[in-house]
Amino acid sequence: MASELPVDSLEKVSFEVRGCPLCKLFKTRKNAVPGEGNHSAKILFVGEAPGKKEDEEGKPFVGQAGRILDEALSKAGIKRSEVYITNVVKCRPPNNRRPEEDELSACRQYLERQIFLILPKIICILGGTAYFSLLGGQSIMANRGKIVEKDGKKFFLTVHPAAAIYNKSILSTLENDLLSLASKIRDT
Ligand code: URA
Ligand code: SF4
Repeated sequence: MASELPVDSLEKVSFEVRGCPLCKLFKTRKNAVPGEGNHSAKILFVGEAPGKKEDEEGKPFVGQAGRILDEALSKAGIKRSEVYITNVVKCRPPNNRRPEEDELSACRQYLERQIFLILPKIICILGGTAYFSLLGGQSIMANRGKIVEKDGKKFFLTVHPAAAIYNKSILSTLENDLLSLASKIRDT
């Protein structure tokens, strides 16, 4: 007898996220931001949560932090069209506050499914919130530049692009880390 296993897909995840009521952020969002990019990306970038512009457009990293990320990617020779970009929390927290633990937990299943469906060679964690949500990490500054393996998945840790907006030293850290990530990917 043919089994009728429900088949998961990135489209299905995005559809569910756009209508998701699983945490209180659904009440204040304009648009949920599931993520976008190459479905067989070697690198999956994971930020914190959508900001104002992302909430308006329903797309990840399209505001000021997005411009910083785009430029760092381009300096590292990584095309945005070849990677997938998302966040640990898919809806904007009011006034861009940090996502709370109940929101991180409620949203985690979507990212887990995206990871399973994309099967990236490496997951690039952007900033402390993603580090905490995915690996329980506490200090991104003390651990950035490192590769961490957990549950058969490989993670690369770096700073959040928003932290680089007014800080040139964090900006060069981000740029150097992405250069190093690009060379690590070339070697795999
Ligand atoms: N900051 C994030 O963490 N994610 C975005 O999508 C935009 C800004
Ligand atoms: Fe659902 Fe995640 Fe949005 Fe909360 S943040 S409503 S869990 S998609």
